[in-house]
Amino acid sequence: MRFEAVIGLEIHAQLLTESKLFCGCSTKFGNPPNTNICPVCMGHPGVLPILNKKAVEFTIRMGLATSCTINKYSIFARKNYFYPDLPKGYQISQYELPLCSNGYLEIEHQNQRKKIRINRIHLEEDAGKSIHDQGNFTLLDFNRCGVPLIEIVTAPDIQTPEEAGIFLSEIRQIVKYLGICDGNMEEGSLRCDANVSIREAGSNILGTKTEVKNMNSIKNVVDALKYEIERQIEIVSSGGRIIQQTLLWNADKQIIEPMRTKEESHDYRYFPEPDLPIVEVNEEWLNVIRENLPELPSIRKERMKSQYNIPDYDIEILTTEKEFADYFEETAKFTDDYKSISNWFMTEILKILNEQKISIKEFPIKPEYLGELIKLINNQTISGKIAKEVFNEMLVEPGSPSEIIKEKNLIQISDEKIIEEIVQKVIESNQKQVQQYLEGKDKVFAHFVGQVMRETKGKANPSLVNKILKEKLDNLRK
Ligand code: ADP
Ligand code: MG
Ligand code: ZN
Repeated sequence: MRFEAVIGLEIHAQLLTESKLFCGCSTKFGNPPNTNICPVCMGHPGVLPILNKKAVEFTIRMGLATSCTINKYSIFARKNYFYPDLPKGYQISQYELPLCSNGYLEIEHQNQRKKIRINRIHLEEDAGKSIHDQGNFTLLDFNRCGVPLIEIVTAPDIQTPEEAGIFLSEIRQIVKYLGICDGNMEEGSLRCDANVSIREAGSNILGTKTEVKNMNSIKNVVDALKYEIERQIEIVSSGGRIIQQTLLWNADKQIIEPMRTKEESHDYRYFPEPDLPIVEVNEEWLNVIRENLPELPSIRKERMKSQYNIPDYDIEILTTEKEFADYFEETAKFTDDYKSISNWFMTEILKILNEQKISIKEFPIKPEYLGELIKLINNQTISGKIAKEVFNEMLVEPGSPSEIIKEKNLIQISDEKIIEEIVQKVIESNQKQVQQYLEGKDKVFAHFVGQVMRETKGKANPSLVNKILKEKLDNLRK
């Protein structure tokens, strides 16, 4: 029998609000344990939650970006369960009426576009963090309690681990472009649970699913799904049955381990949160959010394609991160040689970011100075080779390229007289190579160029050097 996989994702994204979902505590990551807490997020008796408007706005942004219906009315619900890092004994989430529903995202895979339906996007609060690796005990940090999360739930429309990876990376790109989540999977600001089942290829009946958790990178999601699909196929092929359960991906061992089976799983006893009113999103507010929606990756790509007239390939790379595109467009204010900006970015800048493991935000050369550097090459003040030197200098000593060139005396020699003199000198002192050239060995030409460059410490204008050398040598041939 031939099998096919059916996959649905549940993605949690931590929202970039200043304060928590129902109290004024800071959401700042990395503060000392249990310093961002108050009676509200600790669930003390008698406290009342107050909804963070910004968090609702951020959820709506995501809903609009994925063509969801933004529900005029939505309600919060209590999801009851006991866990040490959940001091309230329940999580405030949304159940029956979420903020956003019935959207989709179109992904592109192997030159085909495919719609993945999104069932719902709801808003909920995060739990705290249990720390198990400090000794024979567990430590609890409640700073994360009450930090706002959105949960994006897809329909089971994803068919392969690769598609799941593409979907997740597009979601990651969108939340970052929208400025609602930093998208950092290693730190857990973006988390993904994958539901997966198999069935006979072409069937339209859903099989029993398992849920895989604990994957902190896109690669982990793809690897875990591949593993789990194989595992299910093996079981069914040998006459067994899949049991519905929650599994954990162990990235070190590259295997899946059981977490809990359905029998042990929770009955959350959801009921409407009595301490919060129904949320109403009126038309007026919705329009304001819609009008101020940041530019989405797909729209920005199209705009940049028509605005800068550079290859699609370049645009793809320049828009992978919002900050890349920002850097490019900022530089483009200082020079209209867009292709050169893109070349510098794709080769030199990306190399430095990789080598030094820094983000473009930490990159030391200001867009203004890269623009200036490109201008200096184009108006022949410096050669491309010297420009690299100046670029390297700017990495350690941030300053304007013009100043560096003056300071280090790097201005290109474009005076024909001076170059002629040097060329003459080089010809005289390289008689052996002149002989070879006269005998038709055109290859030695490069040797002369090299010598002239050495004499001028790389500062001679290369096209002038080529021109003058050619004239002088060809005169000798006559
Ligand atoms: P549950 O009630 O177990 O949480 P849901 O219906 O809420 O299940 O779906 C959770 C996620 O699992 C969704 O992303 C959905 O698309 C996906 N899903 C549901 N059924 C299946 C299935 N048989 N195989 C794969 N994914 C599924
Ligand atoms: Mg569910
Ligand atoms: Zn609080």
